Amino acid sequence: MESRTPISLPILIPRPEHNISRANISANAVKVLYRLHDAGHRACLVGGGVRDLLLGREPKDFDVATDAQPEQVYQLFRNCRLIGRRFRLAHVRFGQDIVEVATFRACSEESDASKGSGVERAADGRILSDNVYGSIEEDAWRRDFTINALYYDIANFAVLDYVGGMADLKAGLIRLIGDPVQRYHEDPVRMLRAARFAAKLGLRLDPATEAPLHRLGHLLEQIPPARLFDEILKLFMGGSAIQTFELLRHYRLFGWLFPATERCLNRQQQHYPKTLLIRALANTDQRLTEDKPIHPAFLFAALLWEPLREQMQRLQADGLDQHETLQEAADIVTREQSRRVALPRRYSLPMREIWELQPRLAQITGKRPLRLLTHPRFRAAYDFLILRADTDAQAAELAKWWTRFLQMDDTGRVEATQPATKIKAKKGKLRRRRKSRSASQDQPAIPPGPDA
Ligand code: ATP
Ligand code: MG
Repeated sequence: MESRTPISLPILIPRPEHNISRANISANAVKVLYRLHDAGHRACLVGGGVRDLLLGREPKDFDVATDAQPEQVYQLFRNCRLIGRRFRLAHVRFGQDIVEVATFRACSEESDASKGSGVERAADGRILSDNVYGSIEEDAWRRDFTINALYYDIANFAVLDYVGGMADLKAGLIRLIGDPVQRYHEDPVRMLRAARFAAKLGLRLDPATEAPLHRLGHLLEQIPPARLFDEILKLFMGGSAIQTFELLRHYRLFGWLFPATERCLNRQQQHYPKTLLIRALANTDQRLTEDKPIHPAFLFAALLWEPLREQMQRLQADGLDQHETLQEAADIVTREQSRRVALPRRYSLPMREIWELQPRLAQITGKRPLRLLTHPRFRAAYDFLILRADTDAQAAELAKWWTRFLQMDDTGRVEATQPATKIKAKKGKLRRRRKSRSASQDQPAIPPGPDA
């Protein structure tokens, strides 16, 4: 397993000896496999699709590998687009569903950019582009983990294993193919993938794969922020956000993604920031199991909440007012974070709105609460307030108030937002008229106050 010399004979697991059935593969992926096969090409399912089916899990997507070159794939499908520079790929689109078709690639190690091979490397060993096509076994060896390098061949329905992936899958082991340190240097994102698969699949990392993780986090600094953003979504929106977070922290990778958050987590010994974050991650996992939509802005709002609060405290000491403080702090936090992980505006804007609505949720008299209900980000901001309620007494009072407010009809809402004195006067009249009725359902007025 330590050698990366391609071997030519795979272990072949025939159809009766494995559990992958075409019925469990998406109809679109099957269509793509057959179209390639019928055109005389080799066509296999590979990667997470094969791995998850063998584990009896439902795959997130199906990736196809073939000996057809991207241009040949393009010719075969009308609904096809060629994408990617680093890896040139074909996307075959069926409505919302995309089947990714990759051409077999050669082991990057065997090639050298200076020889004009098509593998482009940075001075530090990172692979910048990898478009050297090769045989199926070469393709297997250049993949990341052994359990990700199993092929389901549509020609005979067998599973092909060139790298010992089947044995690792049975043993519940995630093992990098080849020399782990070198493979992490080639592509540091593999460290994040190791943590993600361990968390999501509940498998163990092989000791040699695990050991370098603790000390190689700094390699993530070389990864373009836009790519890290994509990875963050996969890390935290794959259904195992809490375990993934814990593992990323355990391997000291988290701090390279969210440096300001890591600083807060290390500085604050009481459990406050972690609790809010853990609850946000738990909510995300829960919503996914319930098939409810999740918005990355909410997650980022939670991930960066503590840095925002700290920044605000610093600025408040400079004498800025509350609104200015929040704006300025949000600018600083967002800017610093974007240097590591790109935060597209379609996410950073709603994230900031969720933050900006927090002090506004403390204004619960007059027309403001009713107006706030129509704000497009109200629901997210309210959910965020609920998160904060766990660890912040004032937020807890407000969360209670809003929860009751939301349960009221229009008349009740108007009453609940009267200033305290008016409510009292009204209550007095009401009592005089209907002596026996209690006014206990009226909401206690919470004085609006600066929050956060
Ligand atoms: P999932 O789709 O469930 O997140 P996956 O294993 O299919 O998991 P993808 O990102 O879809 O992950 O990649 C498909 C396959 O491509 C992987 O299984 C692996 O074989 C290969 N691969 C992906 N990223 C890398 C990488 N950074 N280095 C080497 N091989 C990779
Ligand atoms: Mg996949």
